[in-house]
Parts: sequence; C-alpha cells; structure tokens
Amino acid sequence: MTVIETFSPDETFEAGRKIGENALAGDIYTLNGDLGAGKTVLTQGIACGLGVKEHVNSPTFTILQQYDSGRLPLYHFDVYRIGSEDEMDEIGYEDCFYGKGVCIIEWAQLISGIIPDTARKITIEKDFEKGFDYRRITIE
Ligand code: ADP
Ligand code: MG
Repeated sequence: MTVIETFSPDETFEAGRKIGENALAGDIYTLNGDLGAGKTVLTQGIACGLGVKEHVNSPTFTILQQYDSGRLPLYHFDVYRIGSEDEMDEIGYEDCFYGKGVCIIEWAQLISGIIPDTARKITIEKDFEKGFDYRRITIE
C-alpha cells in the first residue's frame, strides 16, 4: 500500500502522471472518493503520463471515454450515473477490462461486482484539518 499526500491539484496531477508513465497494458485502476475529491484531476495526470494529447474530463452523461493518442489506449469510465451493472455490458466493458489498454474507473464501488481482483484500488480522501486543498491518495 502506498500513501501520497498532496496539497494542490497540480501535485495530484503529478502523482497521476507518474502512475501513467509506469502503467502497463491491461492495468485497471479504480478511483473512489467523494465528489470533488480529485478523481478526474488524477485521471488527467495518468492520461498525461500515457502521452494522451486530448483534454480529459468527466462528461456528465458519458460513462466511457476512450483516448487513443497515448502509448496505450486509455479507457476512462465514470460510472457515477450508472443504473446497474447490466449497463456496463451494453457499453462493452469486457473488451476494455480484459484488453490491451489501461482502464480508469471513477466511482468504481458502484460496480464492485464486476471489478477484477487484479485492479489497483486508489482512494482519495480530504482532511480539512490539514487544509482545504489537502488530499490523501491511497494506492492498494
Ligand atoms: P472528482 O472527479 O473526484 O469528483 P475533480 O477531480 O473533478 O473531482 O475535482 C477536484 C476539485 O478539487 C478540483 O476543483 C480541484 O481544483 C480541487 N482540488 C483542490 N485541492 C486538490 C488536490 N490536492 N488534488 C486534487 N484536486 C484538488
Ligand atoms: Mg470526476
């Protein structure tokens, strides 16, 4: 288990960039944490580390966004608005989870039943006693 403490969005982005630089084909990262924790900021860093050129965000009504401009395909899931795990079947998640790219899944706890055991679990927590911009990023 690794714990990274950040004190700004830029530091979280940097932490993500290192993850992206070291990511391997088939890696799955689950991201859990409240709204505004920094899951998307971390994802943007991971994308940068993979060499993705496009801007990465979390579109409200799109569960899966694919980016092909990096050294590996990046499958960015944000399942906040998912109704059920069946919707994941419709999206064709298995080709992503068991493919040759890197998967990032924001709000992964909502689809915990289909997350492979091999996934790296990342949790982002705030602690206001340590400052408004403090985040504790735990990687298991
Ligand atoms: P999520 O995807 O978890 O809902 P976002 O990444 O979209 O969250 O937003 C995180 C928000 O928190 C951004 O507005 C960002 O500027 C702010 N923020 C403040 N401090 C940090 C930090 N240390 N790491 C990441 N984001 C931070
Ligand atoms: Mg987000």
